Amino acid sequence: MEENKKRHIAILGSTGSIGTQALEVIREQSEQFVVEVLSAHSNAELLLKQAIEFKPNAVVIGDESQFQKLKDTLWEQDIKCYCGVDALAQVVEMESIDIVLTAMVGYAGLKPTIAAINAGKSIALANKETLVVAGELITKLAQEKGVNVYPVDSEHSAIFQCLAGEFENPIEKIYLTASGGPFRGKKREDLLNVTKEQALKHPNWDMGAKITIDSASLMNKGLEVIEAKWLFGLKPEQIDVIVHPQSIIHSIVQFEDGSMKAQMGLPDMKLQIQYAIGYPQRLKNNFPRFNFLDYPQLTFEQPDRETFTNLNLAFSALQKGGNIACALNAANEISVDAFLSGKIKFLDIAEINGNSMEKVTFVARPNYEDYVATDKETRIIAKELIR
Ligand code: NDP
Ligand code: MG
Repeated sequence: MEENKKRHIAILGSTGSIGTQALEVIREQSEQFVVEVLSAHSNAELLLKQAIEFKPNAVVIGDESQFQKLKDTLWEQDIKCYCGVDALAQVVEMESIDIVLTAMVGYAGLKPTIAAINAGKSIALANKETLVVAGELITKLAQEKGVNVYPVDSEHSAIFQCLAGEFENPIEKIYLTASGGPFRGKKREDLLNVTKEQALKHPNWDMGAKITIDSASLMNKGLEVIEAKWLFGLKPEQIDVIVHPQSIIHSIVQFEDGSMKAQMGLPDMKLQIQYAIGYPQRLKNNFPRFNFLDYPQLTFEQPDRETFTNLNLAFSALQKGGNIACALNAANEISVDAFLSGKIKFLDIAEINGNSMEKVTFVARPNYEDYVATDKETRIIAKELIR
């Protein structure tokens, strides 16, 4: 491919699990992609290493205390350096960027994603929190700007892949598959004293800490239900969750004639990342292939909503609408953080999430400022519940 036909990518959160896997894909597919921007929150060491290898136009670091070190080293390499949230939102507007991969964790994804859409950039969306917080605003804005949002999340990538060529055919329902996480089959009494080390041991996927805890508490599946609503324009009753412990079937679409399409493969996010940034092409690669004989049984079960109440909270947030999903996300970021730092127990996560959702001021038709205010208010509420 000629140099100017290559896709120019900004990776927000390049030092994380998705970010580093995206760079693995790009390293293998260097004919197809050019890295324009790399960004991290505080891991300056890895960011430097990545910058030296991929020679982006610019790097952005969140943590101010790391900025000087970064600047000093990259100056010689002719790589621009910036610091802070506002810088990130400005850098994504750079003319040379074609596609922005949002691979940072949490609410921090919202602002730069809005800036990127406003600047007409395609979005490869890993940061599901953005759609949970402000799905209505993001989808409307993307439509207005004619911007495509390509899902990276494995379930949503699966649905997206199943929908290829089905443009005219309405969806009857979708099934999001869930591994069930490390505590599948456990009841509330078994979970009273589980440790963070136990919660961080995901059976199938190697991911960042926050999403790994979300997977253990089934909040992740709840966030994905909300993400799916906005990505595919579905009603809550069209979205179902089925536990599939092997994580081979990544999700399923059922059409109005009853036919179901599923997308399957080994649990390896590199495929989904590559599909999102390379769409509509399926680029040839050497990733390990699935072997049926390694998985003689693919099994399915109902999620246990009495034990893992976070899933109900997500459906309830969809029913209530307005700013409630934004509040659920903020409460969950605070409660997961508190669990990881040993301040609360595992079952408290869903408790705090539910109570925070109840207490927040309801806004039926939120605009951007309302989302910012809701996020702030809910964080205060959740922190008070933790004290
Ligand atoms: P990680 O924790 O591994 O990485 C997070 C990345 O975001 C790091 O580069 C981190 O920088 C950066 N970051 C953290 N906080 C901020 C902030 N406030 N502002 C800017 N950047 C920040 O997370 P994952 O890669 O696991 O997940 C990233 C996103 O992708 C999440 O939204 C997650 O839900 C989603 N996702 C992840 C999957 C996975 O397999 N990992 C699967 C599906 C979705 P630093 O390293 O400096 O802290
Ligand atoms: Mg997922």
